[in-house]
Amino acid sequence: KVRVRFAPSPTGPLHLGGVRTALYDYLFAKNLGGEFILRIEDTDTARYVEGAEEYIMEALEWCGIIPDESPKHGGKFAPYRQSERRDIYDKHLVELLKTDYAYIAFDTTEELDEVRKEFEQNGDVFAYNYITRNRLKNSLTLSKEEVQKLVDEKVPYVVRFKMPVDRVLNLEDIIRGKSSVNTNTLDDKVLIKNDGMPTYHFANIVDDHEMEISHVIRGEEWLPSLGLHYLLYEAMGWEKPEFAHLSLILKPEGKGKLSKRDGDKFGFPVFPLNFKDPETGNVSKGYREEGYLPDAFINMVALLGWSPANDREILTLEEMVAEFDLNKVHKAGARFNKEKAEWFNHEYLISKSDEEVLGFLKNVDGINLANSSDAQLLQIISLMKERATFAKDIYNDGKFFFEAPTQYDEKAVKKAWNEAAAEVMNEFSLKLQDSVFEPEALKQDIHDFAESKGLGMGKVMMPLRLALVGELKGPDVPDIMQILGKEETIARIKNAVN
Ligand code: GLU
Repeated sequence: KVRVRFAPSPTGPLHLGGVRTALYDYLFAKNLGGEFILRIEDTDTARYVEGAEEYIMEALEWCGIIPDESPKHGGKFAPYRQSERRDIYDKHLVELLKTDYAYIAFDTTEELDEVRKEFEQNGDVFAYNYITRNRLKNSLTLSKEEVQKLVDEKVPYVVRFKMPVDRVLNLEDIIRGKSSVNTNTLDDKVLIKNDGMPTYHFANIVDDHEMEISHVIRGEEWLPSLGLHYLLYEAMGWEKPEFAHLSLILKPEGKGKLSKRDGDKFGFPVFPLNFKDPETGNVSKGYREEGYLPDAFINMVALLGWSPANDREILTLEEMVAEFDLNKVHKAGARFNKEKAEWFNHEYLISKSDEEVLGFLKNVDGINLANSSDAQLLQIISLMKERATFAKDIYNDGKFFFEAPTQYDEKAVKKAWNEAAAEVMNEFSLKLQDSVFEPEALKQDIHDFAESKGLGMGKVMMPLRLALVGELKGPDVPDIMQILGKEETIARIKNAVN
């Protein structure tokens, strides 16, 4: 049975890399008819951020990546929050201490700092490992009685993994293939902290085992821990899952990991939803609030590091599920591209019905549509949608539909307006009283009027556009006139003439 988990730590908002991991976890599981599980890894109390878990849940929901099991949805392996699973870790810790794979260490931070300084003075780097563990304060160097005494005196201790000496571990990764690591390059990681909480490494493998996880798909920052995880499975006598490590999402220019600061610097969102930092109060921009559609957003995210067959680019979530293949996930880092993200949103926006876009437009914050009927709005949408990236663009690029121009673009005036033009417009506005306000009929009227005056079409069309729009932009003039209606069209012409 395929069971894949997404295991974020609630240390802040979900970032683009996190969403992609969750999405690939989900796609892989669903492609094989398996389950997708959300597990909250909250054992690091120092890095815990209030509200982060709710943020993660809401962001996944917005993306349409719905877990089969989670703290919210429950499931047969509940609880799904690590802080609520301490008895399970304690139980397994007892087993681990029985094997030769773990030991208790009493060194205080100050004591370790001292040794570290000594190493640095000699130009060496300190690690708690097979060389140094034999001179530090732990159950390998102290007698049984001394250890018991310290424990009884409630001297704080941690539990460390006793990394075997000089073993070569052969590691396998679905995306990266085979690699090997010598255990002498690894240190004795803490498994249980002095507050009794497990560290990520221990809780993670216990839970992946307990929750019957079959595949671990996660970010490449965890690749250096893979050797330790292999040995933890071995120490516990458990079968290990298969592993796949996803490469980084890179800055637009290709160098280095995409960071929150890039978003601030180049003006694009880096989080799925807005995130208000509880400490600073600063709000970082989210895709949702920026106006991205969730299906466009996840489509964009999915293609950061994965190529579907035939280089298809537009895929629904269902299509992605059907096509997803870890073997087609790239080893190299994927470069984030803001223009591409916008292109995706544009493609999705124009694929929606005008009625759906009307719904999006009504949800845009801070705009007033009260003066327009739904019928008018639908006409505006059908005219403006094609050029819009976001629903809000339809409003911003079509402002003249909602408000009469209060000033006229200077260059446009120079080009299209003079006394003669004003006279022409005045006469035309009188003619319009009898016009039928439909694009075809209006086009004919403009044509006939221009001909009767012996003028080229431009000599009528340009000042007319200027009077209605305020500049020489926008969709076809007869379309604009129809939406504005007779009264408003004539009023705007008169306003320009005077
Ligand atoms: N809690 C880890 C993180 O936040 C999970 C890593 C993993 O998937 O094993 O990235």
